[in-house]
Amino acid sequence: MDHGKSATGVGLADPETAAVRPATVAAALGGPPPSEAPPGVHRVVVVGGGAGGLELATRLGNSLGRKGRAHITLVDSRLTHLWKPLLHEVAAGTLDSSDDDIQFLAQAMHHHFTFRLGTMDGVDRERKVVHLSPILDAGGAPLSGPREIAYDTLVLAIGSVSNDFGVAGVREHCHFLDTREQADRFQQALLNGYLRAQHQEHTRADGITVAIVGGGATGVELAAELHHVTRRLVAYGFDRIDPDRDVRLVLVEAGPRLLPAAPERLSRLAERELTSLGVVVQTGVTVTQVTARGLETGDVCIPADLRVWAAGIRAPRVTTAMGLEVNRIGQLVVGETLQTTRDPDIFALGDSAACAWPATGRNVPPTAQAAHQQAAMLASSLERRLNGRPLRRFRYHDHGLMVSLSHYTAVGNLMGNLLRLSGAVMIEGWLARLAYRLLYRKHQAALFGLPRTTLMMLSDWLSRRGRARLKLH
Ligand SMILES: Cc1cc2nc3c(=O)[nH]c(=O)nc-3n(C[C@H](O)[C@H](O)[C@H](O)COP(=O)(O)OP(=O)(O)OC[C@H]3O[C@@H](n4cnc5c(N)ncnc54)[C@H](O)[C@@H]3O)c2cc1C
Repeated sequence: MDHGKSATGVGLADPETAAVRPATVAAALGGPPPSEAPPGVHRVVVVGGGAGGLELATRLGNSLGRKGRAHITLVDSRLTHLWKPLLHEVAAGTLDSSDDDIQFLAQAMHHHFTFRLGTMDGVDRERKVVHLSPILDAGGAPLSGPREIAYDTLVLAIGSVSNDFGVAGVREHCHFLDTREQADRFQQALLNGYLRAQHQEHTRADGITVAIVGGGATGVELAAELHHVTRRLVAYGFDRIDPDRDVRLVLVEAGPRLLPAAPERLSRLAERELTSLGVVVQTGVTVTQVTARGLETGDVCIPADLRVWAAGIRAPRVTTAMGLEVNRIGQLVVGETLQTTRDPDIFALGDSAACAWPATGRNVPPTAQAAHQQAAMLASSLERRLNGRPLRRFRYHDHGLMVSLSHYTAVGNLMGNLLRLSGAVMIEGWLARLAYRLLYRKHQAALFGLPRTTLMMLSDWLSRRGRARLKLH
């Protein structure tokens, strides 16, 4: 279910496969080729335009690119960026993925960097070039051959993908929320399930069961969002569906509690909220196999029509093909300066980097918050490097964890210097929802600046008032 074609027949750009196949790729290849760096100008190549990489390329473009002090190139397998924490809303249909898309080409033009469409499939560290695999159209015909991009400084920000931990049947029978295409595909399957139930003579006795594996933030947020969507669909006219009887949501977590990375009290709060919504929460349950019927957990089978795997992450496989140090989940090991341990000209950040967090003895968590902090630090650090000054050292500031429980509430803990609080403070309800929303606005502010972000907030608020709150196509 991870690969293949979407319902519309549009080819997928999957960084885990060897080639890029977006339907609109011709648009990116048309017109004059992107400008190359003038001789002698330092070339910074950022691979991966996600939460961290796009912020970094934008900041570097605004500072070094604008003044012609460096040539900044961003490479991504896709033509557009959607902030990954929005994907559970796309999957549930509460957000139309095209509403919040950012086009790399337009962002590059406005912020003085070059965008190149392509999937990195290796790096030649001797020659200092990034290899990009051929671009194919939706039918598999080549639009470009393999390409190379030369760099002086390379930043790898290629994120992560779901880790199936080798559990049999996961790839074949589960949906994932790693990319917008996968989230769209789940939303289609969900909508089809509801349509089937609505248009049957009698609603099926066993209704629809959606089982989510992984009780981290993604699983918790998706469960709450799906609960909300079901009620809204009924309000929109899916009146043959009884949301309490016909749609069952099951959240399965192998560990003893939900939100393993959060303080215990937060886990209890989230579990209480979900249970009160009727979500069946099963902790301490290990999935041993997934089939088309459901989840096998030792002796018991949890029947499920739709299965979502959100049980952990690993870095894309390409990280292991560069001769750089990686940890057991393929993340590139970096030091305090975010330089990889074996090559000082290659940096890594975000989910694809393993960066120590000395205060806890663990690594910096794979969150958008961490990717944002690393991008901000690296932007100023690389500028210093060009000026012959020492690199900055990364210190992670944990501002806490925010988990949205759809329209019902949010739960979270604010940490450290945020709001000048000392220690952690639990928040829930509207305050936590506000704090959660601010995370995204902060990302937009890093990409567009504060004045434009404020205008965008206002425009979103106005345009969403009269619009359907669900994507029903
Ligand atoms: C459903 C969901 C909900 C989440 N909710 C939250 C939340 O509430 N708060 C929070 O802090 N974090 C959340 N996260 C985690 C957060 O999204 C990630 O930690 C963050 O996006 C990591 O940023 P990144 O820049 O490392 O990678 P990404 O944002 O994943 O970007 C990676 C980019 O690299 C590109 N790419 C990958 N491989 C290649 C290649 N070989 N060649 C070229 N390009 C490539 C991809 O197309 C992508 O654009 C959530 C994640 C998910 C999936």
